[in-house]
Amino acid sequence: MSDTARIAVAGKKSGEGRVKAPGAQPIVFVISGPSGSGKSTLVQKLLDLPGTMFSISCTTRKPRPTENPGKWYDFVSEAEFDRLVRENAFLEYAQVFGRHRYGTPRKWLDLAQERGLDLVLEIDVQGAASIRKQVPGAVTIFIVPPSREELERRIRSRGQDSEDEIARRLQQARKEMESFADYDFIVVNDDLERAGREVHAIGLGTRCRSSRARPVVERILKTFGG
Ligand code: ADP
Ligand code: 5GP
Repeated sequence: MSDTARIAVAGKKSGEGRVKAPGAQPIVFVISGPSGSGKSTLVQKLLDLPGTMFSISCTTRKPRPTENPGKWYDFVSEAEFDRLVRENAFLEYAQVFGRHRYGTPRKWLDLAQERGLDLVLEIDVQGAASIRKQVPGAVTIFIVPPSREELERRIRSRGQDSEDEIARRLQQARKEMESFADYDFIVVNDDLERAGREVHAIGLGTRCRSSRARPVVERILKTFGG
């Protein structure tokens, strides 16, 4: 898949593209939450905003039967991952669930800046902590499942993880939940419709922050003369 993949073009779908101030630095959105909480489902709500692109992570995990390489992940060997680490190609990387490694390639942030697009990262709590340090304006969102029972039901209904993997993910879920207060926004994903609207609203609301609107307002001010 090319570097232009998974980019929503500004203004393509609706007038929402207008909210993005031309000349403003791209926003980096970070979405975290326990496995099965609904991150991938809700990330789509941010990607529905025109002017966004997804950061395709590299992972040493094997693709699940339904996963197309290059769509949500680039699947790489341990040796390839090591090479990328040596080349400093990752903005951040971490070992998740004590097993596989996942990393955010720097090239997506470079591309987002080049094209003036907002970048969406779906990464774990370790990755989010690292991004907070490196990208000070990053906007972080934590997705919370309605209960442990429902989380387990969702992971099982996905039908893509072994018993061993399910146990590992559920054990990790509690630990990850303890990081919720480090995030800017919390979305409880009980009702998908409402949670989706909340994620969408966070995206739009962030674009409307006065700190981001300076170039646009200054241009408008010029029309007033003086
Ligand atoms: P994650 O990316 O956090 O691992 P997914 O987005 O893959 O989670 O969601 C896990 C499963 O739960 C999927 O089958 C998804 O369709 C389902 N799901 C997500 N949100 C909800 C919801 N609010 N209610 C019911 N099922 C949901
Ligand atoms: P999964 O194997 O279910 O796709 O993802 C496992 C975990 O890895 C999820 O919490 C996901 O957010 C996280 N993850 C995916 N990509 C990255 C990445 O590039 N960096 C980090 N730190 N975590 C990631």
